Amino acid sequence: MKMKIKPGKKIPLGTKQAEMLVKMIDITCDDELDCGTVFENLDSYAEYVLGSGKKTKTIQLVEEHLRTCGDCAEEFQLLLKALKAVDK
Ligand SMILES: [Zn+2]
Repeated sequence: MKMKIKPGKKIPLGTKQAEMLVKMIDITCDDELDCGTVFENLDSYAEYVLGSGKKTKTIQLVEEHLRTCGDCAEEFQLLLKALKAVDK
């Protein structure tokens, strides 16, 4: 079998990235947030975690997302760290 690549058509993702993408799509259910939406709501989630925010439906979804998404969880840890540093 020959690998045919059409001229002018680039393969946008490496295999590893493509795998990650498939994995991401795989764990994304109807009611779950995508990384972008989670990112937008990270500050409200941080407020909730730090005790000054209410637990909303979005907060709950963000929480669930962070459990399954290492990237966002990492991003959240950084944000939390930054917020705590400002608090001092
Ligand atoms: Zn994510």
